[in-house]
Amino acid sequence: MRCPRARWRSWTSGCYCAPKTHAVYAFCTVDLSAVYFDVLKDRLYTSAPKSQARRSAQTALYRLLDAFVRLLAPLMSFTAEEVWGHMGRAGSVHMAYFPEPAELAAGLDEAARKRAANWDRLMPVRDGVLKHLDTARNEKLIGAPLEARVRLSANGELYTLLVQYAEQLPALFIVSQVVVERAEGDALGVKVERAAGDKCERCWKYTSDVGGDASFPTICLPCAGAVHEIIHG
Ligand SMILES: [Zn+2]
Repeated sequence: MRCPRARWRSWTSGCYCAPKTHAVYAFCTVDLSAVYFDVLKDRLYTSAPKSQARRSAQTALYRLLDAFVRLLAPLMSFTAEEVWGHMGRAGSVHMAYFPEPAELAAGLDEAARKRAANWDRLMPVRDGVLKHLDTARNEKLIGAPLEARVRLSANGELYTLLVQYAEQLPALFIVSQVVVERAEGDALGVKVERAAGDKCERCWKYTSDVGGDASFPTICLPCAGAVHEIIHG
């Protein structure tokens, strides 16, 4: 899969022609719908309203919208103008400049920019894991991906990277649990198993801490924390 950031760079430079229109379509269907929105849904639906994870997702979505509406304006003139109005922006979207690629990363420090590049290495891992999840579903080992625990084995830099992002890998693969192990060889190993624990009835993930908060016996601890914040502010 082509790197989304490379697609974005090529799309926002130069004139607006047929290949660019195709890039818009690919960005919507692949980068946003099939990957980014799919991964982001859980955070937006289940994280506490004021949590950094949810606020960060909302910031990223707003920046995407702010850039995207200007890029869409030549293709969907009336829709883009309506969106511009709903965003509370003054004037017409058709008088606004096309976004510069740097706008999306504005405010990020050097360390954050380097971290962003790590995702270019993690996305091929996601592609491989999704294929194994499909096989596991076809073999009836799991029903939904959230019923899965993915066991990854790797070596060298890839192992270090996977360990660094271990907490975020379940969300990236949309599974309940991920285990990272050191491999003997260089090839990435992927094994799908049934997730351990009980299903949280709020986020649908399988965890061992369902019922950990006695006030909410059928949901996991992170969900219980989010519900407390919703109730008590
Ligand atoms: Zn939960």
